[in-house]
Amino acid sequence: MTAYAYPLLIKQILTAPLAHAPRQQIIHADRTRYDYRTFADRVARVAGALRGIGVAEGSVVAVLDWDSNRYLECFFAVPMLGATLHTVNVRLSPEQILFTINHAEDDVILCHVDFLPLLSEIAARIERPWQLVVLSDDGQCPDIFSSSGDYEALLEATSPVPDFPDFDENTRATLFYTTGTTGDPKGVTYSHRQLVLHTMAVAAGLGPIPGGGLNRGDVYMPITPLFHVHGWGIPYVATLMGLKQVYPGRYDPARLLGLIAEHDVTFSHCVPTILSMLLTAPEAAMTDLSRWKVIIGGSALPEGVARQALERGIDVHAAYGMSETCPFLTVADMMATRDPDAPVSLRTATGKPAPMVQVRVVDAEMNDMPRDGVSTGEIVARAPWLTQAYLKNAAGTQELWQGGWLHTGDVGLLDGSGTLRITDRLKDVIKTGGEWISSLELENLASVVDGVAEVAAIGIPDPIWGERPVLVVAPHGETADVKTRLRAAFAGAVTRGILSKWAVPDRIEFVDSLPKTSVGKLDKKVLRTLFAI
Ligand code: AMP
Repeated sequence: MTAYAYPLLIKQILTAPLAHAPRQQIIHADRTRYDYRTFADRVARVAGALRGIGVAEGSVVAVLDWDSNRYLECFFAVPMLGATLHTVNVRLSPEQILFTINHAEDDVILCHVDFLPLLSEIAARIERPWQLVVLSDDGQCPDIFSSSGDYEALLEATSPVPDFPDFDENTRATLFYTTGTTGDPKGVTYSHRQLVLHTMAVAAGLGPIPGGGLNRGDVYMPITPLFHVHGWGIPYVATLMGLKQVYPGRYDPARLLGLIAEHDVTFSHCVPTILSMLLTAPEAAMTDLSRWKVIIGGSALPEGVARQALERGIDVHAAYGMSETCPFLTVADMMATRDPDAPVSLRTATGKPAPMVQVRVVDAEMNDMPRDGVSTGEIVARAPWLTQAYLKNAAGTQELWQGGWLHTGDVGLLDGSGTLRITDRLKDVIKTGGEWISSLELENLASVVDGVAEVAAIGIPDPIWGERPVLVVAPHGETADVKTRLRAAFAGAVTRGILSKWAVPDRIEFVDSLPKTSVGKLDKKVLRTLFAI
């Protein structure tokens, strides 16, 4: 007899919900609704259909879709075959999408009808042979390309895979691309083992919070696109826990708020700009959000936005991570914020490490900075689920993993309690006269000023000081009044000793709305170009 060396594989995430919550619902907006048994059957059918068109261990299957039940099915079916799921960022430019498809060496592309025009634009330049499967919401399969068929029709015609094989837990499961400020997108990959460990650690980190966190009574709806770090990995967590899940399709504020009300959604996550967009949508006033818990990541949660959310009864907390970290590294101290007198800053701080995560704040020689709440340095991390290498990019990998710690490129500080606070991105930090100004601190101060809808602080080249801070604001209301209030807020912060005099922005510029990146964050690169003179 030999012991069974249990490999950590994505297929095992499905075991618990089938035992505990087989009748629980998975919903795709107003289109589809079925239970976990049907989900498991469909996963087996998707796998059968993909096998039928030649997908095998080592194949790469790309998905271009809105957030749907189909996407969740692929989160399981593709890796369970030993193939790699390439979640394509549909917000990239056509040229960047083409780059990622070629770089990933996709064998099959599952593409929603809405993205077929985009695909037809680049199809002739896809370098390897590939097959298309069309995803549609109404069974209509337009005649742009010859395809292997429509997803639903293929599922119907196939025989489900009866049993998924065991294989090495280090097999690659997922692949997606992250875009920096320069250069080509970088391919980030995760193995089965990493995704399983991340799933369990997030459940263990967010779960055991009395009256909060993420628990079996919750109804889950992601508002982070599933192509963005697997929807921050939470769809795997929600499935493991057997939660009712709602996939919203294409994001539209009225529709998202409608789904929250209709399905009594209690747990979501998104970037701060999306939360602001929801809170300021006309429908928000008519929607009860008092049972909604929201994790904010991807960018700093400005205090002004956190306050607005709290006023609506939303239990809001920041978390921190990045594409290269699967993504979870730290989350605000959700136990401490159970205290009704806890300051809002405890919710906006990026908090404490998730289980199994080691986080340090270091100087350029990798010495730890004092945990005094003021000394800043680069945040470096270790955890079982950090990407081990950029795909086919040895130089990038070397830079990422210098000294055996993953370099986040973020600047932060730790206080005496071990709470992490991010003060900037290394490349966004404003350097003036040899000193650093935290752009996030300026944004935080501005975010609570009446009339400020969105705000970004950027460094603009200056012949004397190197750089000077400029504040760019999307206002609601009279800009002259907003400017006066902002000036007063900065002057007050200087008087109270919160801000140095030289850190006060010289210029305040107004725009209708701030530019966003492909994942909905403020795009400071574009702003720096716009306001360079
Ligand atoms: P991405 O790879 O697109 O997920 O972006 C990751 C980056 O977003 C991090 O390196 C940080 O700069 C930023 N980020 C993520 N979460 C936070 C947070 N809670 N506060 C401040 N910045 C954050």
